[in-house]
Amino acid sequence: MFDINRIRSDFPILGTKVYGKSLVYADNAASTQKPSQVIDSIKDLYSNHYANIHRGVHHLSQKSTALYEGARGTVKDFINASKVEEIVFVRGTTEGVNLVASSYLEPRLDPGDEILISEMEHHSNIIPWQLTAERTGAKLKIIPLLENGELDISKLPDLLTPQVKLVAVTHMSNSLGTLNDISPIIERAHNMGIPVLVDGAQSIAHMPIDVQALDCDFFVFSGHKIYGPTGIGVLYAKEDHLLSMKPYQGGGDMIMNVSFEKTEYNDIPYKFEAGTPNIEGTIGMAAALDYVSGLGIEVIDSYEQELLVYATERFSEIEGLQIIGTAPRKGSIISFVLDGIHPHDVGTIMDMEGVAVRTGHHCTQPVMDYYNIPATTRVSLSFYNTMGEIDEIAKAISKVKELMG
Ligand code: PLP
Repeated sequence: MFDINRIRSDFPILGTKVYGKSLVYADNAASTQKPSQVIDSIKDLYSNHYANIHRGVHHLSQKSTALYEGARGTVKDFINASKVEEIVFVRGTTEGVNLVASSYLEPRLDPGDEILISEMEHHSNIIPWQLTAERTGAKLKIIPLLENGELDISKLPDLLTPQVKLVAVTHMSNSLGTLNDISPIIERAHNMGIPVLVDGAQSIAHMPIDVQALDCDFFVFSGHKIYGPTGIGVLYAKEDHLLSMKPYQGGGDMIMNVSFEKTEYNDIPYKFEAGTPNIEGTIGMAAALDYVSGLGIEVIDSYEQELLVYATERFSEIEGLQIIGTAPRKGSIISFVLDGIHPHDVGTIMDMEGVAVRTGHHCTQPVMDYYNIPATTRVSLSFYNTMGEIDEIAKAISKVKELMG
């Protein structure tokens, strides 16, 4: 069912040698590599169909517009939104969160109001809310972590007070791998009339997403983490929310009529897409979603779970290695620390062995603070990784111990 050699041959970069060794790319949580199908879609656009969109009557402009709007339909189907109008193209997860913080939440906040996030959030799902809170006199409240890297959901009834005006929580932690069971959080928040934003930056590439089944109010993700280009991402928002929101940025394409006295805004979603957008990004991202759909996200999920189980077993055998994040439900991310060896040294030596991993706080400093560590080494796996590569990673870790131990 899963022809790993054929799949790997779709990704030209996976054939790269690093210091004469075959590349083992295990930094997929930071960004994924791109299949030829994505690369070719962008080449095809530039070679055959490219012009600016929406405003042109000429052939190429109409062709580009059709591809751009087609990409919106692909996104809608991929996350099962009910309408294309609910899909806003943004620069990435970060811009999606900032858009909601500025255009949705800020006008609704009064001093003393609260925004509920969690202790495992990426900085991009912390700072936009902090900025909004600073400007309005609202404050942040935090769902705490448990030692195994799960959220302490038992605290939710106390935290969800009527002052909370929005809950923003990640679907999958980029530093711990934890998969959060967000449906009960959404349900509980909704029972109190509180909207929920889900940060899908990590989950989008690893599990089926159905925004209608989740019933989340907002869902954000980035194209580059699901095998698409950088500089493009998606804000899904329920239609009623988008209709009630002020524009985020002003400029071309987001208007119906402009005079110096008054501007009438365009319909949703265009009201939120000021200026010439990332046309090639949207088309490349749609090609990436088609690629993932072609493999089947459920098939990807189950293969990556096998990789996770095997890698967890292999790494656990290494003396002095401690896995940070041992929740029962995880995506294919393994963060670890090695006794007495700084993660930056770990990453540098692994790189010499051809293994690309990420070291640092992974833009989740509160998580590092919780575990009282400065950083971890993070192995993040994708469907194009193999069991053999996990052995190579384990060997590279042993090499680190040999050199530094
Ligand atoms: N949220 C999570 C959980 C992430 O892992 C990341 C990126 O690592 C982001 C948000 C931010 O994504 P981007 O930098 O693509 O906007």
